[in-house]
Amino acid sequence: EKKKLIAGNWKMNGNLEANDALVRALVAGMKDAACSVAVCVPAPYLGQVQLLKAGSALELGAQDVSPHAQGAYTGEVSAPMLREFGVRYAIVGHSERRQYHGETDALVAEKAKTALAHGVTPIVCVGETLAEREAGQTEEVVKRQLAAVIHVNGHCISEIVVAYEPVWAIGTGKTATPEMAQQVHGLLRKQLGAATSHAERVHILYGGSMNAANAASLLAQPDIDGGLVGGASLKAADFLQIVAAAS
Ligand code: 13P
Repeated sequence: EKKKLIAGNWKMNGNLEANDALVRALVAGMKDAACSVAVCVPAPYLGQVQLLKAGSALELGAQDVSPHAQGAYTGEVSAPMLREFGVRYAIVGHSERRQYHGETDALVAEKAKTALAHGVTPIVCVGETLAEREAGQTEEVVKRQLAAVIHVNGHCISEIVVAYEPVWAIGTGKTATPEMAQQVHGLLRKQLGAATSHAERVHILYGGSMNAANAASLLAQPDIDGGLVGGASLKAADFLQIVAAAS
């Protein structure tokens, strides 16, 4: 049984003072954690959080990464730059980027590829909208999103992290039931299994209104290997309760 992974996604929240208090509380509160813990922070704060977490088991993540390694790409942040700040993970293909920034399956796959090539583990997000779920398209949508990443990243696909984030559950307080989430996680595991003999090794995280109250029942499902936590990652007490539920 692999260790679970609880990753916070701060999204576009935080400031120097609040980050300082939050990360200090996390470092102090996770000393006995038996799971892996990461925070994915806005790019300007990577250096700050790198220093604050030094010497602890807390891992650092970014919320996006360029598909290019360097060059004339104004506004982009590269995987080698992230590595210089001790970044272990980069979220790619979050639904907010797919929705508001027009990210396609192909772009998400390229981002995952560049991250992997430079030692950053991509946390690849997939998930259906409410309309897609109601139209019975959940399986088709998440399979298509993951297939694009598998297609481009073939032989190193067991090195990625997958996050199933149903769009209708993000920031809405509506969580997928453990059974609904497990059903999709099982499908994703099977799809990975067709591409690699190490599918069991891949962390498949659940994201979407995960909180201290619902984390334990979600994390008890056989194919839910952790969580990608938005709102509840901004308060140390809430996030640490989720970490405890995974330990
Ligand atoms: P919430 O936990 O705020 O629903 O956000 C989930 C998410 O999008 C994590 O990436």
